[in-house]
Amino acid sequence: MTLAHEAQRRRTFAIISHPDAGKTTLTEHLLLLGGAIHEAGRVKARGEARRARSDWMKIEQERGISVTSAVMTFEFHDAIFNLLDTPGHEDFSEDTYRTLTAADSAVMVIDAAKGIEAQTRKLFEVCRLRDIPIMTFVNKMDREARDPFEIVDEIADQLQLDVAPMSWPVGQGLNFRGVYDLYKDEFSVFGKDGERISSAEMVARLRPEEKDKLDEDVELVKAGLSHFDAASYREGHLTPLFFGSALKNFSVRDLLAHLAEHAPPPRAQSAKEKVVHPADEEVSGFVFKVQANMDPNHRDRVAFVRLASGRFRRNMKLTQSGTAKTIGVHNPILFFAQSRETVDEAYPGDIIGIPNHGVLRVGDTLSESGKLVFTGIPNFAPEILRRVRLSDPMKQKHLARALTSLAEEGVTQVFKPQIGSYWIVGVVGPLQLDVLKSRLRAEYGLDVELEQAPYDTARWISGSDADIEKFLDGNRGGMAADRDGAPVFLAKSAWELGYVADKNPGIKFAKTRERA
Ligand code: GDP
Repeated sequence: MTLAHEAQRRRTFAIISHPDAGKTTLTEHLLLLGGAIHEAGRVKARGEARRARSDWMKIEQERGISVTSAVMTFEFHDAIFNLLDTPGHEDFSEDTYRTLTAADSAVMVIDAAKGIEAQTRKLFEVCRLRDIPIMTFVNKMDREARDPFEIVDEIADQLQLDVAPMSWPVGQGLNFRGVYDLYKDEFSVFGKDGERISSAEMVARLRPEEKDKLDEDVELVKAGLSHFDAASYREGHLTPLFFGSALKNFSVRDLLAHLAEHAPPPRAQSAKEKVVHPADEEVSGFVFKVQANMDPNHRDRVAFVRLASGRFRRNMKLTQSGTAKTIGVHNPILFFAQSRETVDEAYPGDIIGIPNHGVLRVGDTLSESGKLVFTGIPNFAPEILRRVRLSDPMKQKHLARALTSLAEEGVTQVFKPQIGSYWIVGVVGPLQLDVLKSRLRAEYGLDVELEQAPYDTARWISGSDADIEKFLDGNRGGMAADRDGAPVFLAKSAWELGYVADKNPGIKFAKTRERA
């Protein structure tokens, strides 16, 4: 098959949802349909087995959350799906956001009783920023649910999306009878493995009042709501909507078939000075995540690389942007639900894992020529800053190495103030601090206190050389360098930031920084 054809059948997507909406359950059933697992309950079980292996992951266990995220590959209807698993806990939003940079589309899972919740909205905003098209799965229809029109209105109002229901539910909770396919004039019977019957047969199965209500609803839907429009979906203006139950495997197949048919193949990716298309011959990709090996005795890391163009082959040499280091990729890994395998070939949209010893970092571009630099993989301004105090001050050098390494993995951000010898670490959520502390102890033998820092917020600064010089003269006390040496202003308060920004109109204060 040609490169273009292989790229064309890739569907790389993520599921966005609020914790408990049913992401894991839906993932399981998608994997079942794709033949990647053989019984429900395996995704969680595997997670638990894996957790037991690593010390620092005790935090996950204690708090019942999942910190690790991975990718799972499966096939359905001649499409190859790469499902990016985003960690659900809100404290790990930074990691989650970065994972979305590798997705071409998303599935938004909503709990039918709760509607849109806080984290769903945040993740949605990231999707919107990146024009990632979204399909919506209204889950748990087998339980007490809100009125479907109310759910549709909420999505339309709060997310400013056109909503195109693909099917419409009859009843809910104990009275959930199934969904009527608005496009095929068929009915899927709930509880019968999604048995599909014609609308004529449906009349015999539904009670008269159920049928009347459905007729009324369908009239309203057809008159008042959007019709599915593939172009509008792909542009991110419209979301097709499915009502179902992940737990009972209901409507999941319809969702997956719709993804296979309409979800976008790998997008073109902006690099400095050009746009890279999936069918371009040159192999290229970018690192969106780095994970330490689950085995604490090894310092190995796996860089997750999203391929952007070309036909990747095992043993090929790729060059890292920035350092111009060339890496022979001899053991690229492809991830399945229950295994990891060495791959010989991979295509745009695929995610390969490249084991390395800390050379590859989040945001790196890899390409054959070494000349490509992809843009758009941001660092996020941390919302919590802490000063690192070592219990053994003789270990400063060791600490510097450990922090740099953990920063490269995206566990924390590090800032080295121009004045003073303490490192400042920055995180997006408080739980990251616990992870940082226990990993420093478990993997580096370092005991640290993370103390209140005299700073409240961080901004990357940019401007003309003259403006920066002037700014530095007045604000050296708040200046620090991030792990790449880029200048960062650490402000003591939002008020100070506003004040300083007013006094320095030539300086741009950014909440995110893209790796150069
Ligand atoms: P996550 O936190 O989004 O990954 O949610 P889970 O998939 O772990 O689901 C949270 C809880 O909701 C679990 O107890 C599931 O069994 C339950 N659940 C998920 N989907 C459904 C559904 O369609 N119907 C019902 N009744 N329960 C569900």
